[in-house]
Amino acid sequence: MKLIEGKLIAEAVYAECASEFAELNAAGNTPGLAVVLVGDDPASRAYVGSKERKCQELGMHSVKIEKPADISQDELHAVIEELNADDAIHGILVQLPLPDGLDEDEVILCIDPAKDVDGLHPVNLGKLAMEDPTGFAPCTPSGCQRMLVESGIETSGKSVVIVGRSLLVGKSLALLMMGKGEGANATVTVAHSRTRDLAAVTREADILVAAIGIPRFIGPEHVKEGAVVIDVGINRIDDPTAKRGTRLVGDVDFDAVAEKCEAITPVPGGVGRMTIAMLMANTIRACRLRADRS
Ligand code: NAD
Repeated sequence: MKLIEGKLIAEAVYAECASEFAELNAAGNTPGLAVVLVGDDPASRAYVGSKERKCQELGMHSVKIEKPADISQDELHAVIEELNADDAIHGILVQLPLPDGLDEDEVILCIDPAKDVDGLHPVNLGKLAMEDPTGFAPCTPSGCQRMLVESGIETSGKSVVIVGRSLLVGKSLALLMMGKGEGANATVTVAHSRTRDLAAVTREADILVAAIGIPRFIGPEHVKEGAVVIDVGINRIDDPTAKRGTRLVGDVDFDAVAEKCEAITPVPGGVGRMTIAMLMANTIRACRLRADRS
C-alpha cells in the first residue's frame, strides 16, 4: 500500500507558485489575496489563519477582513465590491460557511469571476463544465486531481466513484475527472445519500473518493481489492487519549481499509494540505491572467 502524502505534493505546488511568483514580481506584479471572515467560528478562523500564513510565506500581498456575524447582506456585498475594485487584490475568498441569516449564493454572485479563486461563482462553474481553461476550479477537487497526477495514478478509462454530490467537492470533482486531459478521462459515478446499495456501487471503483462528512463511514466492504482511495473528509471526533481530547479523522476507516488499497490518502496530511496549495496557485494564476490582459 502506498501512502499518498498531501504534504509532499503540496510542497511541489508551492515550489511552482514560488517560481511563478518570482516571475510576476520581477515584472512589477504582486499577487494579492483577500480573505473575508464573518463571525467567529473557531474552525473558520483557523483556516483563514493558515491561508494568511501561506500568503506571507510566498511573499504575496494578503488582506484579512473580519466582520461580525450580524453584518447585513448589503454591508457584506459592499465589502466584496470594494475588493472587486481594488487593483492590489487578484483573489477574493469568502470563508464558508457564513453565519445563519446570510445568503452564501448571493455573496458568491457578488465576487468578480476573475477574482473568484475559490471557483464557486456560476461563471467559473460554467467554465469548469465547458472545460474553459480561463476559469478557476474549486480548490479541494483540483487538489484531489493533482494528487492523482503527481502520484502517477492512471485515471484515463478508469472507473471513479465519488461519494458525495456537493458543489464544493463531489459534483465539481466529477466534472474535472470526466473531462479531458491529465488526471481525467475517467468513467465517473457520483453516489450520494439516496444511492441504493452503496457498497455495491463503490466496490466497482478503481478510484474511490469519499466526500461525505461522516467519520470513518467507508469501510472495507465498500472497497475493491487494489483500489485507490482518496479521503476528502475532515471530521473532529472525541479522543480522550489525545492531548486536546479530540482528533481529526477522515470519511474513510483508514486502519480497516488501507491494507486493501493500492494507494490511499491519510487524514490529516492528505487532501486538506492540497486545498490551500491550490488556492495559492489559483491566486497566482489570477494575477498572471490579469497581467496578460493588460
Ligand atoms: P456536504 O455535507 O455538502 O455533502 C456531503 C455529501 O455526502 C452529500 O452530497 C450527501 O448526499 C452525501 N452523503 C451523506 N450521507 C451519505 C450516505 N449515508 N451515503 C452516501 N452519501 C452520503 O459536505 P462537503 O462540503 O462536500 O464535505 C464533505 C467532507 O469533506 C466533509 O468531511 C468536509 O469536512 C470535508 N471537506 C474537506 C475539505 C478539504 O480541504 N480536505 C474541503 C471541503 C470539505
